[in-house]
Amino acid sequence: MLKSCTEAEDPSQLQVGGITPLTTIDYPDALSAVIYCQGCPLKCDYCHNPELIPREATTPIPWHEIVSFLDQRRGLLDAVVFSGGEPTLQSALPAAVKTIKKMGFLVGLHSAGPYPQRFVALLPYLDWVGLDIKALAEDYAALTGSANSGRAAWQCAEMLIDSGIPHQIRTTRHPLNSPPDKQKMLIKRLSTLGKTDHKWQTCRSSDGQNTQ
Ligand code: SF4
Repeated sequence: MLKSCTEAEDPSQLQVGGITPLTTIDYPDALSAVIYCQGCPLKCDYCHNPELIPREATTPIPWHEIVSFLDQRRGLLDAVVFSGGEPTLQSALPAAVKTIKKMGFLVGLHSAGPYPQRFVALLPYLDWVGLDIKALAEDYAALTGSANSGRAAWQCAEMLIDSGIPHQIRTTRHPLNSPPDKQKMLIKRLSTLGKTDHKWQTCRSSDGQNTQ
């Protein structure tokens, strides 16, 4: 498991690197806005949002501007999705999620699951989760550059499936997970965790969409 920090109660501490004001494809069957949280502990070689990997955004969007924007979209948007980067990197995320929920929006999360304890603590506040399972756990380090990232992500998958929260588990096609035996094993391991919705996907970027 990777290192985690203490939860910050102040949502304005959330570092936001970008926002998509309207999308139909980031939360199932809903009109949503996407908040791109700054920072990611992983370094996937196919990442199409490398500008979101550093922990500090060059031009962060202030939280009050996001709240003000969403306030004007009440009744027009159904959901708000926290994406990244890796949202669970930031200790201000739970407070931000709770603020958006109180505004009446459904809340979604896109995560690669590097922090299982933070992930499971957040689940009760989420309406939908899109979780990356990038490869078999033993192949993660070669893909993400992080030794324990595979174990952490698969632990998150287990907890997500156990929770019964609506979700999708996504795997981005990559040479490490392309061999048929690897694909078969990945599906088999997921199926041992319980009933889930799994999708193979190609890379996307935040100009159109994110990579998670
Ligand atoms: S693809 Fe996602 S998890 Fe991987 S480095 Fe980029 S933002 Fe982080």
